[in-house]
Amino acid sequence: MHVIPSKTEVLVVGSGYAGLSAAIEARLAGASVLVIEKMAAPGGNSIISDGGIAAVGTWEQNEQGIEDSVELMVADMRKAALYRSDLQLVSVVCVNSKDAYEWTKDLFDMQYRPRVEIFGGHSVPRCHTPVSVKGIDLLLKMMRKCEELNIPIVKNCEVKQIHLNKQGVSGVTVSINNIEEEISVEKALIVASGGFGADVEFRRQLDSRLDESVGTTNKTSANASLLQECMRIGAQTVDLDCIQCGPWSSMDEKGFGLGPLFGDYVVFPYGILISRASSRRFVNELADRKVISDEMFKQNQWVLGLADQQGMDTGGWDLNRAIERNVVRKFDSLKQISDEFKLDETVFMEEIRRYNEFLNIGEDSDFNKMITGDMKPILRPPFYIMRMWPKVHTTLGGLKIDTSARVLNHQHLPIGKLLAAGEVTGGIHGASRLGSCAITECLVMGRIAGRNASK
Ligand SMILES: Cc1cc2nc3c(=O)[nH]c(=O)nc-3n(C[C@H](O)[C@H](O)[C@H](O)COP(=O)(O)OP(=O)(O)OC[C@H]3O[C@@H](n4cnc5c(N)ncnc54)[C@H](O)[C@@H]3O)c2cc1C
Repeated sequence: MHVIPSKTEVLVVGSGYAGLSAAIEARLAGASVLVIEKMAAPGGNSIISDGGIAAVGTWEQNEQGIEDSVELMVADMRKAALYRSDLQLVSVVCVNSKDAYEWTKDLFDMQYRPRVEIFGGHSVPRCHTPVSVKGIDLLLKMMRKCEELNIPIVKNCEVKQIHLNKQGVSGVTVSINNIEEEISVEKALIVASGGFGADVEFRRQLDSRLDESVGTTNKTSANASLLQECMRIGAQTVDLDCIQCGPWSSMDEKGFGLGPLFGDYVVFPYGILISRASSRRFVNELADRKVISDEMFKQNQWVLGLADQQGMDTGGWDLNRAIERNVVRKFDSLKQISDEFKLDETVFMEEIRRYNEFLNIGEDSDFNKMITGDMKPILRPPFYIMRMWPKVHTTLGGLKIDTSARVLNHQHLPIGKLLAAGEVTGGIHGASRLGSCAITECLVMGRIAGRNASK
């Protein structure tokens, strides 16, 4: 059993990417650091993520001749955010994205796939995916680094209360094995407690669509309790109502599951979404997540994600497990699909013909989907179908911070010795987060928080 120190220079709450980035930087800058984690297993949502990182100006982008710029990434993120985000914060994330990505290679020896991916809302491919497509790789390497640097990670230990004195945060009360203990904080408290996607009560008050009938990709630990404690001591929040759903989800499995690989990497670029109400497409499949999820919710019933063998091959992912588990189902013909899901066959066939024609002429005059050279008409059997419905994926609002990761109060002034990073904060993604930008944010802002905490 861990004996918790009664004081530390820097206390980090949360053992996800944001918390561990902060802890490592603070330690490298010379501070004594303690990480506490309320769950028995560390890693929060970070450990179950795909680990994809958006970064601009990387070696891999250059190799593939992808022309990108910080300004373009800022513009993409701001547009998706419906301009609700803080320009300065977004700029800091984008300017430092390449450095954060390279940090994962240099310090943790991370390996990435050579192909840079594009997700809806990005103007160019800039998502760098770990070879394993698993966020756990980086997380485990970060934990090993903590061990090397003598940074204790105390598990089953939850911050219940934050205490203030005239200088700001003085310490916290934690509960460990149902016993309350006090830890005093000399330099800074860094809140990196993640989002609240699994907190049905809290999220439903903010968006009434997101009741218990809507699933989540998050771990059960993702609740608002520490965020609310920060609010109690005077922290300002921003965009709490901006809750992102993942439109690439299967309704035939719990949690994140296997379906998103098919939804995001095959259906959206190389296939189409079909409404069961109209037997037609209803959205640009390469729009950002908010646009697609909102259009799905408007359908009031689950929808179909469709791709053919060619789309499957171009996507290039091994989806056998998803097929074995019936999350993705194979059909020999489009007619079989129409019969199985009670579509209007004539309308459905005409819709496919129309979409294929858009691909031939290079312009989607219905939904303005970006047509690229590797998208081919949906013709080649077998055809693949997934029953799709959004799941709560990331919470985009949270504590208001400045570009030094300091938490601001209602007078827009920093609360002394209180820093925050990662999904618990708001202001970076506004109304909608582009795929793979959360990990960039966690690494960039976590590192900034760690460096500033050690001062
Ligand atoms: C399935 C899935 C896949 C994803 N894939 C990607 C991707 O490929 N690319 C991308 O950019 N984003 C992705 N995301 C989003 C991204 O992973 C998260 O936004 C990010 O990992 C959040 O990191 P964090 O450090 O802020 O919080 P977390 O990783 O959630 O860590 C927070 C930790 O704080 C702990 N904690 C909370 N309260 C307390 C307390 N009071 N006391 C002590 N400990 C506490 C929690 O238990 C948790 O372990 C994905 C998300 C999910 C759910």
